[in-house]
Amino acid sequence: MCHALLLDPKFLCILLQIDVELAREARAVGCACGGALHRADFPRKPRACPSEVRDDFSTRFSFCCNRCRRRTTSMSVRFLGRRVYLSLAVVLASARHAGQMPAAAWLAGELGVPLRTLQRWRQWWRDSLPLTPLWQEVCARFMPPVASDTLPAGLLERFAGDAKEALMRLLVFLTPITVRPVALNEGC
Ligand SMILES: [Zn+2]
Repeated sequence: MCHALLLDPKFLCILLQIDVELAREARAVGCACGGALHRADFPRKPRACPSEVRDDFSTRFSFCCNRCRRRTTSMSVRFLGRRVYLSLAVVLASARHAGQMPAAAWLAGELGVPLRTLQRWRQWWRDSLPLTPLWQEVCARFMPPVASDTLPAGLLERFAGDAKEALMRLLVFLTPITVRPVALNEGC
């Protein structure tokens, strides 16, 4: 697992481009009422984010309908639900954390993630992700099945390519759950 990707501006820039495209698609679909969507982004104060790309990660793309005022937030590879940490950090730190307390403590220090938060992430991968419609629809396609107690590392290794490509595919795979409320209190 290559945590250096967290510090790779090129990789993070590609994540922004994917989010721009996802936002463009959401806007093109429009609101369910038939109204037009206008930009109404959420400001973010991202954590575990390199300063060079902070501006690229300081908003979550979202829209407001000009007719019914309902919000549409597009899917994201940068943010996992309402978490303040980059989704990349949630994946990398959680994978590191899998049964490796010294490594987790090291990465927690590197990223400024409290150990308590890491433990909640692990719990989310193990207990909450398997309950999502995404997981239940797609889970059956993995042969052999991915054991929930190996997440996210067990899932990551199912995606093809080098570390960078596999991570990108995993983040894209997770995008449907990024627009649903994530029942997780990061305590921050
Ligand atoms: Zn509407």
